[in-house]
Parts: sequence; C-alpha cells; structure tokens
Amino acid sequence: MLIEKELMSPGINLVQHQNPEVPGLMFLRGSLNLVLGHLQDRNNPQIPIRAETATVKEIHSVLYRERSDKAGLSDVRPSCEEMLDICRQIMDWSPRTAHPHFVSQIYSRADLYGIGAEVIVAALNNNVHVFQLSPALTVIEKVTVEYLSDVFGFGAVGGAGYAEGAFVPGGSLGNLHALYVALHKFNPALREDGLPVNGKQLVAFCGEGAHYSIEKAAMALGIGRSNMRKVPTDTDGRMRVDLLEAAIIESVAHGETPFCVCATAGTTVLCAFDQLVPISEVVRRYGLWLHVDAAWGGAAAFSPRHEHLLNGLDQADSLTFSAHKMLGAPIQCVAFLVHARHPGLLQRAMSLDAPYLYQNSTGNRNAEPDLSRMTLQCGRRGDALKLWLMREALGDAGLSRRIDDCVAWAEGFRSEIQLRESKGSGFILYKCSFSTVCFWYVPRAMLPVRVMDLEHGTADWNVVDEIPDKVRNEMIESNDCMLVSYGSTTGLPRFFRLGLSSAPGTQAQCSSSIEIILNHIENIAERVFAVR
Ligand SMILES: *Cc1c(COP(=O)(O)O)cnc(C)c1O
Repeated sequence: MLIEKELMSPGINLVQHQNPEVPGLMFLRGSLNLVLGHLQDRNNPQIPIRAETATVKEIHSVLYRERSDKAGLSDVRPSCEEMLDICRQIMDWSPRTAHPHFVSQIYSRADLYGIGAEVIVAALNNNVHVFQLSPALTVIEKVTVEYLSDVFGFGAVGGAGYAEGAFVPGGSLGNLHALYVALHKFNPALREDGLPVNGKQLVAFCGEGAHYSIEKAAMALGIGRSNMRKVPTDTDGRMRVDLLEAAIIESVAHGETPFCVCATAGTTVLCAFDQLVPISEVVRRYGLWLHVDAAWGGAAAFSPRHEHLLNGLDQADSLTFSAHKMLGAPIQCVAFLVHARHPGLLQRAMSLDAPYLYQNSTGNRNAEPDLSRMTLQCGRRGDALKLWLMREALGDAGLSRRIDDCVAWAEGFRSEIQLRESKGSGFILYKCSFSTVCFWYVPRAMLPVRVMDLEHGTADWNVVDEIPDKVRNEMIESNDCMLVSYGSTTGLPRFFRLGLSSAPGTQAQCSSSIEIILNHIENIAERVFAVR
C-alpha cells in the first residue's frame, strides 16, 4: 500500500527508496502509461499504421545504438527513462492492429477489456495447471468452457452436460489436440504402444481449403502428412461431401484405417463453411471422429443472424475456436472442446500422473479440477479470463453486435466493389463469405476482363496475378496506408483478400475506410502497371 501511495505522489524520489522493487515498479507505471497512450485514439485513421518502418538491420542497430558490448553484457543498465524510450521505439515499429485500415490478416483490434485481462493475467502469474495454484482462473476457465459449450451446441445443462475442454495456445495447437484425441478414441492402446496400429496405415481427411496446421498435426503425431488426405473443394471452397465419402471408401479398399475427418467452419482464405450436416452423416456411417476447425468462422455462433452458417456443428466430436480472431480477444485466446457425448474422454486421453504436480489431498480429483489434465501442456496461462471479462462487459448482445457489424462492413466492401465493377473500373469481385471479401484488380488498360476470362486464362493472367503482391509490397514500404494480404487458389490469379475481423466504428467510418482502402489499391495498381 505504501508503495502504491508513493508511486502516485510525484514528489518522491523513488530511486532512493529502500524497497529493491521500486525501480521495477517505476518502469511498470511508465509502461502502463505508454500503453494507455498507445491505445488512446487507436481508431484514428489519421495516425499511420506504423510510426516507422525498419529492416532487421535497422532495428538491431537502433536497439544497440548506445552499446559498445553488442551482447549487452556490461553492468551499465539503461535508466528507467531509457527503458521507456526503448519501449516507445518498439511500439513505433509495430503495426497498429487497431487502425481502421489494418486489414492484413484475420485478426485486428484487441478488445480493451481483453487487454485489461491480459495485464491481470501477467501480474498474477498464476499457473493454470492445478487448482490450488490458480483457483479463480481455473473456475473462470471452466465456466468459459461451459459457456462455449452452450454457444456451439456441444452440450448444456439438462442434456448430456457440458463439453469438456480447455484453452490452448493457438488454433494450430487446438487442431493438434483434436487429432490426438481422435486417435485416442480410435484406439486407447496407442497411448502406450504408439503407432502403427496392427500394421495398418492410419488416415485422416480434410478439405483442400483446410488450415495448414491440420497437416502439421498429422506430421507431429507420426501419421504423416501424406496420410492427411485432402478432399477437393467445390467452387465456393467447401469440401466436396461426395468426394469425401469416395476417399474414405477408397482408403478402406486399400487396406488403410481411416479414423478422423477434419472439416473447417470458415476456411482461412475464402472463409468457406463446410457443410457439416451431410459431412457428419458420412462420418457417422464409417464410425470416424469429426473435428471442426472453427478457429475463424466459429465467431458466427455468437450472432443469431449468422449462426446458421454453423448448422450441424453440434454433430461434431471436437472443435477449435479462436476468440482472438473475430471476437477480438488479445492474442492468444483459443478453446478446444470435446462434445459432451464423450464424457471423460479428453482427460483420459491427456492425463498422466505426475506426483510432483498433482497432489490433491481431497482424494476426489473432480472436486478440484486440475486443468492441465485436459491438455498436452503442463504450465498454462489464464487465457480464458480475456473472453470471460469481455462477455461480462459486453454481454451476448455486445458480442453479437461485434460480429454483425464486421459482416456488415464486409458486405459494404462487396457492394462497393460490385458498384465499381459495374461502372467499368478494374475491380472484379471473386467471393464474399461472412467477413471475408476476395477480389481482383485489373488495370483499366486491360479491360474488359471478366471472372470467366480469369478462370479460363487470358493472355494477361500473369499481370493480374502479380498485382496483389506488388500492391502489398508497395503498401508495406511506403507505410502510408494499410497492409493487405492476398490469397490464392489453384488455377486462378492471386487475389486481394480482406479477412475482416473488426469494423472501424460508426457507419460513416466504415464507409470512409472502404473508399480509402479501395482507392488506395486502385491507385497503386494503376501506377505499378503504368511503369511496367
Ligand atoms: C487462424 C486459423 C488457425 C490457426 O490458428 P493459430 O492461432 O494461428 O494457430 C487454424 N485454423 C483456421 C481455419 C484458422 O483460420
């Protein structure tokens, strides 16, 4: 308390204070002020996305500018002010993800309640592996898993109970957990004996649009990348259900052992939603595990208007959901859930006894849950607090509005692109799904060009293909506006892809950002084309 008071009163020379923690506390106060300064006005489009751009070399040389010993081994440490200067510089180099024109990847502005939660989680430094060492954060994680279980139709009170689950460090790790649990369900002896099973090759399936972490999980688990079979997708990017079934039949005919299908709700590039109802029917027919990677599109479940996109999700056996994408929790905030129809499975698959850690004296382990029994990790962060506090503050209505506003913004982009297309400008809409808008820009001198021409390959295919990359590079170098990423699918030129994750604010701000972003793309593309 004394320290707190002293920190608040400006006249006291804290450095002279007896408490050895005081310099650290001074730095902390300064860095929190820096953070508040960084966040205020964060929606202001006038502030550049990055205050400064720098190469690896430049960053390195500035960080070690004042140092003769490059390794920083000397005993002369920077003062508190110097430390804060370094931090300010780090912030200046970093892209401002809250900027209304930051449409680079499928995450952006972090929620302020979520950032507050992040700070608390760091300050508490509780390890959410066993209950005694993180009682509040453990209960919050359990309650949040139950909340998500309800939201995703994975089990509720009154029915089979809630899904089991845990927060994991990232969507990729969520997908790894899924494949591991599916393997365990397929054959619990694998835990002891490892692969292979009766000399037969284990095989799983995902759509061609699946996130690459699905293949990585197959690599990591020893199933092998080539045994994660990629099922072709339809023109909307959804896994072809007929071809999925054909692939399963073929695999069995070859003497292999299929065990799992990984569908995607909201693919990373096109935001395609696999058709979970017919897929789940196929999966049941062959007795496989159905995992749904809903890292990106799972956000639809929070909106009554868009939840239909996830029809059939309740038929899945497990899911991954990233609250740090469209919901706007700070990175990372990812849940992995196993449906309530598999009670105890997650813990049976994951749990190992470690007498130095699990020392629950009550004898009843379920009374005091130790959450690291649910994941591949031992030590764990209290990531759930971010989503929990956000829901407390915003309510279901606030969360659904966030999703609806973002989708409305995407629809605004789509209408404007179509309008410009109809007026003979170079924009050509490719796809718009949920909050993802994909389009091409064809330089005016090349027009007319239609989607059909691109699909069938016109002479200037290569020009159209190069434009997104050139525009992106120019945006990064000039740093005058936003960062935009591009997408690609086989057989088509690369296209611009806006994976929008949070609308900039008012209607007027949304419209203005649409104008600015599209004009910017158009100007750069025309300029780049002119100097070819
Ligand atoms: C982003 C994403 C992931 C990976 O999530 P990370 O948290 O980046 O590991 C997995 N699947 C899909 C569909 C995604 O969009």
